[in-house]
Amino acid sequence: MSKQQPPVEKNETVDVTFEDITHDGAGVAKLGGYPLFVKGGLPGEKAEVKVVQVKKNYGFGRLMNVMKESNQRVDAPCPVFNRCGGCQLQHLSYEGQLEYKQKQVKETLARIGGLNDVAVHPTLGMDDPWRYRNKSQVPVGEQGGNIVTGFYAERSHQIVDINSCIIQHEHNDKVVQLVKKLAKDYGIRGYDDRIHKGTLRHVVVRHAKHTDELMVVLVTKGKELPNKKNLVHAMKEELPNVKSIIQNINPKRTNVIFGERSEVLWGEEVIHDYIGDIKFAISARSFYQVNPVQTKVLYEKALEYAQLTGKETVIDAYCGIGTISLFLAEKAKHVYGVEIVPEAVSDAKRNAKLNHVTNADFVVGEAENVMPWWQAQGIEADVIVVDPPRKGCDEKLLETMATMKPDRIVYVSCNPATLARDLKYLEEHGYETKEVQPVDMFPQTTHVECCVLLEKK
Ligand code: SAH
Repeated sequence: MSKQQPPVEKNETVDVTFEDITHDGAGVAKLGGYPLFVKGGLPGEKAEVKVVQVKKNYGFGRLMNVMKESNQRVDAPCPVFNRCGGCQLQHLSYEGQLEYKQKQVKETLARIGGLNDVAVHPTLGMDDPWRYRNKSQVPVGEQGGNIVTGFYAERSHQIVDINSCIIQHEHNDKVVQLVKKLAKDYGIRGYDDRIHKGTLRHVVVRHAKHTDELMVVLVTKGKELPNKKNLVHAMKEELPNVKSIIQNINPKRTNVIFGERSEVLWGEEVIHDYIGDIKFAISARSFYQVNPVQTKVLYEKALEYAQLTGKETVIDAYCGIGTISLFLAEKAKHVYGVEIVPEAVSDAKRNAKLNHVTNADFVVGEAENVMPWWQAQGIEADVIVVDPPRKGCDEKLLETMATMKPDRIVYVSCNPATLARDLKYLEEHGYETKEVQPVDMFPQTTHVECCVLLEKK
């Protein structure tokens, strides 16, 4: 890196031209070779920027005035877009967002994975990229004697009170507003995390897109919840599609939302949803993809890449509640799923029964340890699907895949950087990356999901 002094000083105002956007959505301007990162700047734009932080090799600025706008710039429709942090790209046209994601994937695979020529397809986007989330988790607090629900302002314990979040399903907004009103009517106190006092900490809502069922979880600090009966009665009156009302108790001083204990206040412990023709029971705490429309697009791509004829043995590593496994089981001879969370594996088994699937087995454990064990039992996989968390696959798992030598590997990834690292390993151990399909699971945010096909060389 250059030994020169940074070309700007803190609080200085400079005119810049943005060249690029980072993986977290900030505009990048170069002053000489010195990059300045500015939230809200778009490539091609000329703007006036105030320098707010100067480091040796890069700095940060605040967007003051855009002098020449990008033709991709749109007005962010959410009034709290700049303060919330949940969305990063509302100021970029949706078409621009899809291009940005494809480019992010392409560049990351080249830079980290050395994959310069691999086919990265245009991002599969949504027809309507708003109101897509099926799950909402909203903190509850009090300000000036009023109940507030919203999000924490950046680096603070202050909740910004909002009535609507336009990437959430309308039902989720409605439930949060109803709970806010009922809390006031029935004298239920909001929680104050600075002093660890109050009753209601979070409202978590889940909506099942294809059955329209609702689950409401009230997370409280203690077992005490005043006027519980009236509260439940009012919720049933106001929400005809509610199927499950749950109290979860979280007595700890923590920013983890759920506590260990849950109690069904009314209705069932789960709600049901479909992905394609497959039915899933979803409990309050189990992982379920948040964008139901795009989940189907993603899983269909995984199924296409798996190229099943009915004769294949398939392993689904990191299988969660068995969503991909059951999607593939219809077309495979047998599916083996492995997942580290025991409750998720119970859900997977229950979901297999629910759909009369008899050719899928699920095991609790670390995929990197269970796969070698399966291999030792003589299980030979024709296709392996992996869908790891953000940190990607454990190297031991990659090693095992390379020695199991399936014909195809389908890699579903929510993090292009670890995907690139893992593809590099697999390229060096007998596999070729055939194609990469980015899918937009999280419109208005910088998150990118990819489905990748690898074949044995
Ligand atoms: N395929 C599922 C879940 C994907 S999320 C779906 O689409 O719904 C990734 C999953 O990997 C989580 O359920 C997480 O609990 C699990 N996981 C994390 N580390 C793991 C490990 N080492 N071995 C097996 N599963 C793991």
